[in-house]
Amino acid sequence: MSLLEKKTVHGAMCINCREEISNPICPNCFIDRVKKWLEFQNEETNSFEKFSNKFLQKFSNLKVKEAGVCLFCKGEHIPPICSFCLIGVIGYFFEKEKPELLKPFLRIFNYGFKEYRERAFL
Ligand SMILES: [Zn+2]
Ligand SMILES: [Zn+2]
Repeated sequence: MSLLEKKTVHGAMCINCREEISNPICPNCFIDRVKKWLEFQNEETNSFEKFSNKFLQKFSNLKVKEAGVCLFCKGEHIPPICSFCLIGVIGYFFEKEKPELLKPFLRIFNYGFKEYRERAFL
């Protein structure tokens, strides 16, 4: 068992794909990195910020098991969504709002991609 795996709450399951979360990353950290990537390319970030605020709100009322310790900020209150589904959510945003950025986004952030099903959060 690797160190990373030990930081995961045993049995924490992604609310979107229902698979066990092995490398928890908090949505805040992930979204932050995407924002920096957009800024670096001189892309406007307003629409992405609007989207991500709305997305983060979906987690505020969830009463479910937390996923463990974030790989990036070491924060402990990570909502149970796996990094594959996070990439899916944000990929879905790019597909709809900025289709020309979808491919570059996936090239940089993709370490696995799962179809995002929004109804999982409703
Ligand atoms: Zn998932
Ligand atoms: Zn974090």
